[in-house]
Amino acid sequence: AAKQQGRNSAHFYVDALQQAALERSQMLRELRDALRRQAFTLVYQPVVELATGRIRKAEALLRWQNDAGEPVSPDRFIPLAEEAGLMPEIGEWVLQQAAKQAARWRRLDPGFVVSVNVSPVQFRRERSSVPLTETIASLSGIAVEITEGVLLDADPAVQTQLLRLRDAGVEVAIDDFGTGYSSLAYLQKFDIDSLKIDRRFVQHLHLSGVDLALCEAVIVMAHKLGLSVVAEGIECEAQRALLARAGCDYGQGFLFSPGVPADALTAQLVAGRAAETSSAP
Ligand code: C2E
Ligand code: MG
Ligand code: MG
Ligand code: MG
Repeated sequence: AAKQQGRNSAHFYVDALQQAALERSQMLRELRDALRRQAFTLVYQPVVELATGRIRKAEALLRWQNDAGEPVSPDRFIPLAEEAGLMPEIGEWVLQQAAKQAARWRRLDPGFVVSVNVSPVQFRRERSSVPLTETIASLSGIAVEITEGVLLDADPAVQTQLLRLRDAGVEVAIDDFGTGYSSLAYLQKFDIDSLKIDRRFVQHLHLSGVDLALCEAVIVMAHKLGLSVVAEGIECEAQRALLARAGCDYGQGFLFSPGVPADALTAQLVAGRAAETSSAP
């Protein structure tokens, strides 16, 4: 019986592997097709200045629906697109799209910035296409979010690109800060402008003294180094209040708004300005 059981679970395992491989190739086919048909969209999540409650920036977040019309999380399809070599092209589309939108919002607020996630593979893209940094430097109103892994990448091409971004004066933020291993030396070397504290440190901030202490320490350290701080994933008022009291510069999260289509964010910006004008003395 034990033998039989072993054989069944082996079959089950192989079937599961085959199933996963099938799903993967199906998703890849649909992704390639989506790229051809320009079937991606962007939503924008407001970044709020905690001291004033004003929306100062927005983060562009990629959205994709598969052929069955179901939204697929970027956490699932981006790693696949990276592996399949599609990310330079998708990333280029994201940058161009976000820059067009940034230009519109900068007519309402000249200081407005749209922040774009840039995948590590975009820094390594082949020489034939336009280098990433050239594209980014030619756009205005765009800031870049990279993960700690990009700072530590041993590939000299990646380091060169990062230094070029710095020289072009492009604002660079470290995303998901606290989950990787970036050193203070790297933050200085590449002239990083801001840190985005990862959601997992914000989540229990109001319940955990340790998490609160971590956030406070990051904020103090960042400010001493001349960096600004964004807290990600603020979902409740208690978290917002503690972060504001700790001097955190900006916040992002479902408490304020999830990622929304551009028009919806425009409406939020216009409403915010109207509220300010009407409350001005
Ligand atoms: P990220 O850059 O750290 O983006 C923040 C993620 O947290 C977004 O998920 C956002 O919807 C979610 N989020 C924001 N506020 C809250 C909150 O209060 N609670 C919770 N539970 N979640 C919140 P999303 O849009 O699913 O994106 C996931 C990740 O996919 C992003 O994490 C980013 O790493 C990647 N990504 C998204 N768009 C792009 C893109 O255009 N290019 C690249 N390379 N990566 C992207
Ligand atoms: Mg991000
Ligand atoms: Mg800089
Ligand atoms: Mg993040």
